Amino acid sequence: MSVYMMNKEGIDMPVILRLISSCVGISKEAGKIIRDIMYKGELGVIQKGTGGENDPQTEADRQAQKLIISVLTRDFPKLKIVGEEDDIKLEPNLTGNWISEEILSLKPTPELETIKEEELTVWVDPLDGTTEFTWGAVDHVTVLIGVAYKDRPIGGVIHQPFYKAIKGDPNLSAGRTLWAIRGLGYGGFEAKSPPENELIIAGTKSHKSVTTQKALESTGATTLISHSGAGAKAMLVLEGKAHCYLHASPGLKRWDTCAPEAILTEIGGKVTDILGDPYNYAASVHPMCSRGAILAHTPTIHASILSKLPDDVKDIFRNK
Ligand code: AMP
Ligand code: MG
Ligand code: MG
Repeated sequence: MSVYMMNKEGIDMPVILRLISSCVGISKEAGKIIRDIMYKGELGVIQKGTGGENDPQTEADRQAQKLIISVLTRDFPKLKIVGEEDDIKLEPNLTGNWISEEILSLKPTPELETIKEEELTVWVDPLDGTTEFTWGAVDHVTVLIGVAYKDRPIGGVIHQPFYKAIKGDPNLSAGRTLWAIRGLGYGGFEAKSPPENELIIAGTKSHKSVTTQKALESTGATTLISHSGAGAKAMLVLEGKAHCYLHASPGLKRWDTCAPEAILTEIGGKVTDILGDPYNYAASVHPMCSRGAILAHTPTIHASILSKLPDDVKDIFRNK
């Protein structure tokens, strides 16, 4: 499949494969932009929060979103796209193409063949873990691109820009890209089961509250991990380093959870809000995951954690 064909009308390739191929390619290019800005040390930090809370945005968040959304709007004009950052001017004269040949070579399922571009919504977190990025804690940084078909995740990409990246090394293959497509499997990592006879639960490091802690402790976890970044915590579950990522608080947005949910579901996991209901990923919904999230490695782990959450914790979320 040639790059040129990606931009031609009417090519015989399901849009979902062309889209995920593009998302894999641009997430890597966004990762390169993020590394370059970090290595130059000109982060351009501004605060997005109005209430005095720490909610930074950097030049890397801005540039990465500009690239991702400029490419997607150019190549997929009927897509609905929701990006985390506001007021990012797109680049109308972009000439580059970034794709994954691996994705284009997959054989689509009948369901995937029927999907139309206008039925897809892309949720973009151009840089997850910005606070940690400003501290130089780059292992927590991911680029998250989730794709929803109608209102549910159908594909996703998590790119880690700093995976095996060494400052000054021009190696463009630095970084790692995890992807999945419903019914077609996943790639870029090895899905591993968490250890038996243990219960390892990952929770927020930067947005702790009495409720988040109460929820985590109610699970009877043998180990609680405080870890930063939604993408980074989802990866702990994907790679069997945690049984579950539990966030009993509002704060997560759909651009944090769409790509992780798509990938975790494809490896056999289960993701819902704190009450056990699925999130709707239609572009028209408010991005806030106001009922928190349970991202579990298996439906059994999910059911067990859901059953242990105390009613007074669940009650906090019932009317949200
Ligand atoms: P954390 O687990 O605290 O690293 O957060 C994971 C993701 O959710 C990041 O994108 C955060 O920006 C977002 N997030 C979680 N909780 C909050 C909150 N209370 N306020 C703002 N953002 C939050
Ligand atoms: Mg985020
Ligand atoms: Mg972000």
